Amino acid sequence: MTSSVAARVFHVMSKPTGAICNLDCEYCFFLSKEELYPGSGFRMDEEVHEAYISQLLAAQRWADEIVVAFQGGEPTLMGLDFFRRTIELERRFAARGQLVLNTVQTNATLIDDEWATFFKEHDFLVGVSIDGPREMHDAFRVDKGGKPTFDRVVTGIETLRRHEVEWNALTTINAANQDHGREVYTFLRDELGATFVQLIPIVERVTPELLPLAESGWGSRRGERPLYRQHGDQVTHRTVGAEQFGRFMIDIFEEWARRDVSDVFVQMFDTALAHWLGMEQAGMCVHARTCGDAVALEHNGDLYSCDHYVEPEYLLGNITEGKTLLQLVDSPQQRAFGQDKLDSLTSYCRSCDVRFACNGGCPKDRFISTPDGQPGLHYLCAGYQSFFRHIDQPMKVMAGLLRRGQDATGLRDWYARTDVKRAPDDPCSCGRDAPWGSCHGAPATTA
Ligand code: SF4
Ligand code: SF4
Repeated sequence: MTSSVAARVFHVMSKPTGAICNLDCEYCFFLSKEELYPGSGFRMDEEVHEAYISQLLAAQRWADEIVVAFQGGEPTLMGLDFFRRTIELERRFAARGQLVLNTVQTNATLIDDEWATFFKEHDFLVGVSIDGPREMHDAFRVDKGGKPTFDRVVTGIETLRRHEVEWNALTTINAANQDHGREVYTFLRDELGATFVQLIPIVERVTPELLPLAESGWGSRRGERPLYRQHGDQVTHRTVGAEQFGRFMIDIFEEWARRDVSDVFVQMFDTALAHWLGMEQAGMCVHARTCGDAVALEHNGDLYSCDHYVEPEYLLGNITEGKTLLQLVDSPQQRAFGQDKLDSLTSYCRSCDVRFACNGGCPKDRFISTPDGQPGLHYLCAGYQSFFRHIDQPMKVMAGLLRRGQDATGLRDWYARTDVKRAPDDPCSCGRDAPWGSCHGAPATTA
């Protein structure tokens, strides 16, 4: 680390196999990144591996805990020896007392007892991609032969649970599950035992020319995926609708707030609470004022501005070619990338009542126009507005509890006091056109 570079917190999503994966999920934007490296073997070599771990640990030597993250593609395709070497490198380069938390994002289809034993032994946090009950999951998450993957994923999760590995669910919200928020959530909680849930909306943005190919699953099983870029203002049929996204989140919130506060962590709710507490940069990058602190590291050491911008214009440099990770993250190019998120906000967003919680969403999805015709509004704006407005009162209740040093679970009592006044035929609190007694007033059922 050079003394001219300020210490800063940043997160690296490393991709040891690049875009290579054993599955062929139809909405996956990352598979096409293979096109960036023709002829590559797509395996992080020892030099890049060592540069990644040593530079990351050196850059955050002042931090109590450092997160080392592996993502893909499918990182378990690297084999266990790669991860055993990761542990050796961390032991070699960590400062005295420095805690290293390893995380891996996986489709879980290759997880067996040997993997789970290793993850448990080294306290890995394992993120598993699963989109809900069988039909919803299998709608788009298929293997190279187009076959469903649900059973293999659930077997992988069961193996992790048997070995008591800490894991979380990463669930996309897409056209196949968008109308089933509560069902998806209760499935994750009750059938899989998930206690940490990340929800990611699928917004497949494409140009009109690419739409036919995109609609056919990118020709995924014919090897025809062109390099995916954040261009165009069309979306595929797999993309979640804006209103449906808001409804999905409200459905889950209504279930969570009544019984799961403090027991199940839903990343977006935690982020929202932080904003209601006045913490502008906490939680998910998409709702922070500025971004740029979450970079993507390709298998060959190339560093990009963000996982969603692995495109030639967003290449910051290579960590084995003179500049360190910290220098590249702290570069004028990357600072401008992060600042642009704030500077490019539409005037509609600037005067929005929930801007403090939303901050205009991720720039990659800002491709619709505001009601008065200004381009650059987020595709999910209508959903963000309805969700953030819906949770305003309960978030104020929770923030008040925390400010007074009380437990946030007090929100459950607040709901209980309100619910007792509802009759079965009253409109449901979720705002859906359904009676309370057969909607959120009824016990949740899983698929
Ligand atoms: S571009 Fe979007 S996903 Fe990437 S860091 Fe910024 S807000 Fe996050
Ligand atoms: S809800 Fe819509 S208008 Fe408000 S900040 Fe978010 S994207 Fe902008």
